[in-house]
Amino acid sequence: MAPEVFAEIDPPQRLLMGPGPVNAHPRVLRAMSADLLGQFDPEMTAYMNEVMALYRPIFGTQNQQTFLVDGTARAGIEAALVSLVAPGQTVLVVDFGRFGLLLGEILARIGARIETVSAPWGQVVELDAIEDALKRVRPSLVATIHGDTSTTMAQPLEGFGALCRKYGALSYVDATATIGGMELAADRWAVDVVSGGLQKCLGGPSGSAPITLSEAAAERIFARRHVERGIVRDDLDDGEGPRIGSNYFDLAMVMDYWSDKRLNHHTEATTMLYGARECARIVLQEGLENRCARHRAAGRAVTAGARALGLEVFGDHRHRMSNVTGLVIPAGVDGEAVRRRMREDFQIEIGSAFGPLQGRLWRIGAMGYNAAKHKVLITLGALETVLRAEGFAAPAGVAVEAALAAWNAELSA
Ligand SMILES: *Cc1c(COP(=O)(O)O)cnc(C)c1O
Repeated sequence: MAPEVFAEIDPPQRLLMGPGPVNAHPRVLRAMSADLLGQFDPEMTAYMNEVMALYRPIFGTQNQQTFLVDGTARAGIEAALVSLVAPGQTVLVVDFGRFGLLLGEILARIGARIETVSAPWGQVVELDAIEDALKRVRPSLVATIHGDTSTTMAQPLEGFGALCRKYGALSYVDATATIGGMELAADRWAVDVVSGGLQKCLGGPSGSAPITLSEAAAERIFARRHVERGIVRDDLDDGEGPRIGSNYFDLAMVMDYWSDKRLNHHTEATTMLYGARECARIVLQEGLENRCARHRAAGRAVTAGARALGLEVFGDHRHRMSNVTGLVIPAGVDGEAVRRRMREDFQIEIGSAFGPLQGRLWRIGAMGYNAAKHKVLITLGALETVLRAEGFAAPAGVAVEAALAAWNAELSA
């Protein structure tokens, strides 16, 4: 074997200023090196209960059913959809970017009837358009994204869940990119299911998906389970459609594991749970309002710095996410060469873009542990130097000054 395989892991110290993942908070990494426990150990189940309590305020909810799905954010999305939706049921997807397309892709595998109401990339869907679609298609579920990092847009959700309920539908929101950085208000929005991930504004590694479910959502999921004396029966059909088409992502079973019943399902990913718990503790110690303000300051600083450089900021300005900013690559500049120089000369990662925006945007994220004044300033200073090296006439010194002024204005206001 090559001698490298015996070398200890020693990755370069990169500053991850893309759309995620970001550098994890050192406290989270330390928590994840703690010793393991058995999954029914009273200390372990106490940690599980603490995690449920810690994530309720982060989701803005009192839902009892607030816990972790083991896996990356996509595991939370898939668990929600496969548990809520039976084959043949109609789902309305509110789609304004790549992650809206992902919802459709997962729902297609479930065998749902998919209806879509979309906005072009860089815009959000108006509530009126959602209501028109609800009247027309009468879905059993409406699924959408809060912040879609592919376009940097944040869908307004005030009134969204209530609107869905008015037409008899439950609602699901993927809040992976905003949890811990922009306000989540599951109860006020009356949204039934919200899921997230650690690797963005929560400042942890990917691999755990916090999720919350309303009583109505939990009831629908439990109603799909047909268990007699511990044996799942396919022949018992109560009209809600066939049983949940996944064992690992069967949220009825996962909820029984996270309840006092502690019915064995999977082995809870102990180390990820330690990490998720520490992420939440850091968020709540900082305070949700302070944390959102810090992410807002970071977004304003990136925006001000980029504009001072003469760059155009992408998307409908009324609805941009605060934590990820899209910068239009100027004509004549090689976007990938800029990213390469940022990485090689400055050890900074910034993002590219997908689909219709491929080659058109850089995406700069300032999230979690990296939504810090100095990290934003260092990134903009580096970007200025790199742009000049790539032939773009960026004025010297202005980006950092403009960003600093914007940061200070936001946080002292
Ligand atoms: C980043 C992101 C994800 C990531 O999913 P993973 O499975 O953790 O890679 C999902 N949804 C949205 C909206 C995101 O921005």
